[in-house]
Amino acid sequence: MKQYDALIVGAGYAGAVTARRLAEDGGKRVLVLERREHVGGNAYDTPDEEDIVIHVYGPHIFHTNDKRVYDYLSRFTKWRDYQHTVVADIPDGRGGRTRFPVPFNLDSLEIAFGPQEGKRLGDKLIAAYGAEKKVTILELRHNPDPEIAAIADYVYEHVFVHYTMKQWGQTPEEIDPNTTARVPVFLSRDPRYFQDAYQGMPLEGYTPMFERMLDHPNITVELGVDALKRLELADGVIKLDGEIFDGPVIYTGQADELFGFRFGPLPYRTLDFQFEIHGRMDGNDEDEYFYQSHGTVNYTVDEDFTRITEFKHLTGQKTRWETAIMKEYSRAYTGAEGEIPYYAIINPDNNALYAKYADLAAQYPNLRLLGRLAEYKYYNMDAIAARALALADELL
Ligand code: FAD
Ligand code: UDP
Repeated sequence: MKQYDALIVGAGYAGAVTARRLAEDGGKRVLVLERREHVGGNAYDTPDEEDIVIHVYGPHIFHTNDKRVYDYLSRFTKWRDYQHTVVADIPDGRGGRTRFPVPFNLDSLEIAFGPQEGKRLGDKLIAAYGAEKKVTILELRHNPDPEIAAIADYVYEHVFVHYTMKQWGQTPEEIDPNTTARVPVFLSRDPRYFQDAYQGMPLEGYTPMFERMLDHPNITVELGVDALKRLELADGVIKLDGEIFDGPVIYTGQADELFGFRFGPLPYRTLDFQFEIHGRMDGNDEDEYFYQSHGTVNYTVDEDFTRITEFKHLTGQKTRWETAIMKEYSRAYTGAEGEIPYYAIINPDNNALYAKYADLAAQYPNLRLLGRLAEYKYYNMDAIAARALALADELL
């Protein structure tokens, strides 16, 4: 007797949103297999040993312009209004340090070049591109005007080149241009990292949101289960636990791993996270203690880590004199035990390698690859949720 109508591998955004739609809107009995001991994928958050909520797989800030995604997720969480701001922290050349907003904006320009000169240069950029416009660093570097070229050089040197070398091991010219375009020069005084219409943090955290999404009588979640140990793929037929499974199989893990790396491994960057607890030493136990002024501080010129995030800024949690921070160190993914493939390295060679796996997947009529890993793309949470909603529309 057939027990399940649909099988989903992975309980992150891709898996959880699809599972809920198929179960609730399609009346399908859905089995979700998740390798980790928890749901939420890389958005998973949990209290640490000091009871401070941390993001175990890197800092996650929700932002979207997609009303459908926002409304859908809002069924499973209330939101805390949080507008993420980031500053770059750099040596000032005189033995101290200085900070300016990132994305590099009109205020950053005045910090870097002084108030008057910065204002004049800002006006010049606005005359060239328009007020409130976003200009990518690669675009700015192509401007032939010598003064604009000097601004571009400054921003390249103090925001992009060293950070990108740390993050990708390559220069901004060598990586996918869409990546640096995520953080353009912004001809505005808006200090926010994102300008999306909907932005915030799930009020009680991401994990409770996922738990509610997956809490449906038609959904069975099995944690700590590597689906690849229970699946067999051969000749266009998928077997689960040795029996043919002909319902939809939505796979949200690595595409190369699904097929035994037969064309070779897809390259990724991984991250090492260093979590630290910091506490106040000044005896003041009245006010909330913060380690840094902003949710995230990017170290764009020096240090081995790329950025430091302090979770309390994001979550709004009150813990008085203690705080949890995380430093991110990026390096090449080797596939070693315990390493996590965080970032696909988008370039023509890797895309061509991925296409071979996608072609193979297409030979299985009931198999769908969905998600940041399975599609080998640099997708934000909202983009994956949108794709999951669309896939469910199609399957239903
Ligand atoms: P995942 O969340 O990776 O979920 C896939 C799941 O599948 C995992 O739980 C995995 O364990 C499971 N799985 C894989 N293989 C198997 C198997 N064989 N058997 C069983 N289970 C399996 N996006 C934003 O919008 N805002 C942010 O601020 C943001 N910050 C980020 C910071 C970092 C450091 C990183 C790396 C990403 C960030 N993202 C952010 C992107 C966000 O993490 C992704 O968009 C989102 O997690 C993708 O969801 P997913 O379901 O595709 O993949
Ligand atoms: N980047 C940079 N300096 C910064 C911020 C971003 O050089 O201060 C570049 C870098 O290449 C990074 C990319 O822009 O990988 C995208 O940054 P984003 O903050 O969106 O990365 P994510 O949060 O996805 O890691």
